[in-house]
Amino acid sequence: MRKQIAAANWKMNKTLSEGEQLLKGILGGMGEVQEHQQVVFAIPYPYLLKSNESIGAKKNTFVAAQNCHHKTSGAYTGEVSVDMLQSICIKYCIVGHSERREYFSESNSMLADKVNLCLSKSIVPIFCCGEPLNVREAGIQNEFVQQQLQESLFHLDADAIQQVVIAYEPIWAIGTGKTASSDQAQDMHKHIRSVLAKQFGQDVAGNISILYGGSVKGSNAKEIFSQPDVDGGLVGGASLVADEFLQIIKSLK
Ligand code: PEP
Repeated sequence: MRKQIAAANWKMNKTLSEGEQLLKGILGGMGEVQEHQQVVFAIPYPYLLKSNESIGAKKNTFVAAQNCHHKTSGAYTGEVSVDMLQSICIKYCIVGHSERREYFSESNSMLADKVNLCLSKSIVPIFCCGEPLNVREAGIQNEFVQQQLQESLFHLDADAIQQVVIAYEPIWAIGTGKTASSDQAQDMHKHIRSVLAKQFGQDVAGNISILYGGSVKGSNAKEIFSQPDVDGGLVGGASLVADEFLQIIKSLK
């Protein structure tokens, strides 16, 4: 059974003490995470080590990096490698968030390298895909997302792709308060799963968690997550408020 996942993306927010308080509030309120569910916190690099300690042995709860570099090591001032992440026991890493694609010119082929590096170190890539508004308005969002998947993930074999979590995040819905309707989310998730099924087989596609991201809040999470091909969410703004994120966790199937 594929996992149902609530993943927080703090982006470049919170000081250490603010982050500690937020994490404490969520960990204290969320109770036990069921075996088929996971809760993931993608937090800023400086707090990864400490947050991993705070989470400790809490079941099915993990810390994620928000990014990694696409080379193994070397003269890349300011960057963080997957080896470094592995050395501090990080199990998840967001790859290809639309903000990184846009502001740091991350290409599909660079993201394929990041996915490979993550998998080589047993780090689960949370691979983000999704179309900008003009693509949605032109009605070619399915083709656009398919190309992102093909160019960054289709070199993998059936075992490797099942280690990847996919997050569909329509760019027009990120941080805008404009959520995709649950039908729009389901349509795209179904499309993604059918594209995966064609490449890797139905059984493999059925094992891959596909998260929705884009203005998920406590009040809309349940409806979006109830869609058959939506396996939880990647959450920005609402993950910075303990009560909101707790409600989102409670909305997992
Ligand atoms: C995100 O950053 O991945 C995201 C979905 O942000 P928000 O929830 O704020 O739209």
